[in-house]
Amino acid sequence: MSVDVRLKDLNRRLAEGDWDALPSYLAAEFFSYTPGPDEPSAAERFASIVSDLHAAMPDLTATLSDVTPNGDIYTATLTVDGTHENALWGAPGLGAHITWVNPVSIKPIGDRFAVSFDDIAFPELIAVLRQFGLVNPPDEMDRPPPYWVSLPEFLMKVVFTGRADDKPCAHLDEIRVVEPDTRVCAVCFSQGDTWPALRLCLICGFVGCCDTSKNKHMLRHFEETGHPIMRSIRMDEGWVWCYEDNAFFETAVLERYR
Ligand SMILES: [Zn+2]
Ligand SMILES: [Zn+2]
Ligand SMILES: [Zn+2]
Repeated sequence: MSVDVRLKDLNRRLAEGDWDALPSYLAAEFFSYTPGPDEPSAAERFASIVSDLHAAMPDLTATLSDVTPNGDIYTATLTVDGTHENALWGAPGLGAHITWVNPVSIKPIGDRFAVSFDDIAFPELIAVLRQFGLVNPPDEMDRPPPYWVSLPEFLMKVVFTGRADDKPCAHLDEIRVVEPDTRVCAVCFSQGDTWPALRLCLICGFVGCCDTSKNKHMLRHFEETGHPIMRSIRMDEGWVWCYEDNAFFETAVLERYR
């Protein structure tokens, strides 16, 4: 089957909401990165997220429009559409109708496709996550969230770094502490302030509030000490962020340092 026909076939199935078919169209490789033997394939990663979305939005559909050949790849506009009826990553379904439009690049690999989400417009994506109830309203970003939501770490990595693989970071070798010895931001607590989430400095063990809190104590800790690498300690989260490299790592990376 030609690539064009196969792409049309995929487009028709997505428009019909035939999500069970999606994994058989997705390559094991990401657009510009091949996962290692001990990592999930791109097809597995995307299928897992789509499966969560489809469970939350039974009427979920997608369309690829303006599909244009461009050398060996295709560019297109992806439109995802559905009604948030059931719980998604901790946020209850409240019936919001949600549409997300983003440019994509599609690389044929055999009879499958590697996909890249291009030029993700951050404010628009955050607006969509707000519609799901996964991010607080703009004027409540410094408050604890209404639901104990937990986004898939892989999704967070793609959103925050724009890529599926790990960015280089020389600071992983500086990790000395992986578990917190407190569950409060001491400075906020002493002045009666609240925070949405806590971070742990993986170099010295300092615990401070996150970057959307009123006081941003972890960011200030980084600025004062130069310790750039920290993890989330909200609920069971453990994802790691390096301020200096804007690098995101999934919780599993911490296993090396326990
Ligand atoms: Zn780093
Ligand atoms: Zn520190
Ligand atoms: Zn604080």
